[in-house]
Amino acid sequence: MKKSNLNETSLSRRDVLRGAFAVGCGLLLPLAVFSSPAVAAEAAAIKKVSKKSVQYQDHAKGEQKCSGCANFIAGSNTCQRVKGRVNPDGGCILWMKKV
Ligand code: SF4
Repeated sequence: MKKSNLNETSLSRRDVLRGAFAVGCGLLLPLAVFSSPAVAAEAAAIKKVSKKSVQYQDHAKGEQKCSGCANFIAGSNTCQRVKGRVNPDGGCILWMKKV
């Protein structure tokens, strides 16, 4: 008899946790959907810097080349952080390893 009560209590807690999870997801989903344009706008607002200011070179030394950088946009040979077109073999002090 007591064991049965424990199971009911346990199930009840599980239901409460599931409900809390569902409510949490329900609150986060609209936040994620509606914040996407804001995030995009914020990203667009980040100003690119000049090549000179980041010591850009068309032919980088070592392995830290634009083609291996997280900021490199391969389709257009451009950079998310530096103005103008960049060379895949180039590099600058903002280099960040592509994951
Ligand atoms: S941050 Fe520098 S190294 Fe990276 S892609 Fe842009 S110019 Fe190249």
